[in-house]
Amino acid sequence: MRVAVFSTKPYDRHFLDAANTSDCHELAYLEPRLTRETAALADGATAVCAFVNDALPVDVLRALAGWGIRLVALRCTGFNNVDLVAARKLGITVARVPEYSPHAVAEHAVALVLALNRNIHRAYARVREGNFALEGFLGFDMTGRTVGVIGTGRIGATFARILAGFGCTILAVDPAPDPACIAAGVRYVELSDLLASADIVSLHCPLTPATRHLIDQAALARMRRGAMLINTSRGAVIDTPAVIAALKAGHLGHLGLDVYEEEADLFFEDLSDKVIQDDVFARLLSFPNVLVTGHQAFFTADALHGIAGTTIANITGFERDGRAVHEISVEKLA
Ligand code: NAD
Repeated sequence: MRVAVFSTKPYDRHFLDAANTSDCHELAYLEPRLTRETAALADGATAVCAFVNDALPVDVLRALAGWGIRLVALRCTGFNNVDLVAARKLGITVARVPEYSPHAVAEHAVALVLALNRNIHRAYARVREGNFALEGFLGFDMTGRTVGVIGTGRIGATFARILAGFGCTILAVDPAPDPACIAAGVRYVELSDLLASADIVSLHCPLTPATRHLIDQAALARMRRGAMLINTSRGAVIDTPAVIAALKAGHLGHLGLDVYEEEADLFFEDLSDKVIQDDVFARLLSFPNVLVTGHQAFFTADALHGIAGTTIANITGFERDGRAVHEISVEKLA
């Protein structure tokens, strides 16, 4: 099957080619992001392979259907960037990678927690300048702290297990509590109780209408003064201006982000020679107690191997009998 692979980076090519050796799909690698303007590049293909910042609203899907696209194979877990109802009406199947190394993202969230707590990001620069003073680097012991996990699916549960290993008390919020988490000592509570009790709050829920700006001004006001907030889920789960106000007021103690609501124009590109036009993002970068990574939590060789394998399996399944292995069912979501 001919597949138009949008937002291709050299590493995508490497792992997809390795996974495609026996199935032999014709993978057309395209560097541009999928947008209204670039959708025509899919002409001649039967499937589109898209990533987190490729946009698939109704008009793009309609254009893709017009070019003959019948499958959207997402090479990611989240699917908030696809209008699933429109895809269904247009007869386009949408598949995703529901599961790959949850450790990749969970461990990155832990890396953000530890780096912020012990100021590793600042120590790295300071020591290289010959400054060995410790002022400003005072951290806290992880053991005995209370960690709030919002969303205990594959990644959140893995994160909770690691933090429990540090000796933390784990509170969680999830509409579908995980019996394995409960058995491991995780206590499910109301969101307001989690926010009021946690020293560290980490977001691992999907972006849905219910979770958009879940962490807004009111939620931040409920958090403990000096608490740490970590977001490796999707940028829009956080109301960024509200978070900036909480940082300026000294109410929020630390912020670790791997995702950002307006990341599509920034992340995955080398913009080091350019002036950042997004003033909200630029303000975030100005805080010493904020650490931002550019949506790299998934970026381990193990995870890319898993993503590529499942993506190719989805395409092969669809080619064989019209059923992608991990098709997203609008009916099940409703
Ligand atoms: P998952 O589907 O296994 O788990 C998501 C959990 O969130 C589920 O248990 C669900 O019940 C829960 N949830 C849904 N609505 C909620 C709400 N309102 N409040 C609390 N919990 C809620 O997904 P996963 O594999 O653990 O991934 C979680 C998210 O992480 C993805 O949706 C994606 O947005 C993000 N992600 C980010 C990266 C990255 O590189 N930064 C990589 C992969 C996934």
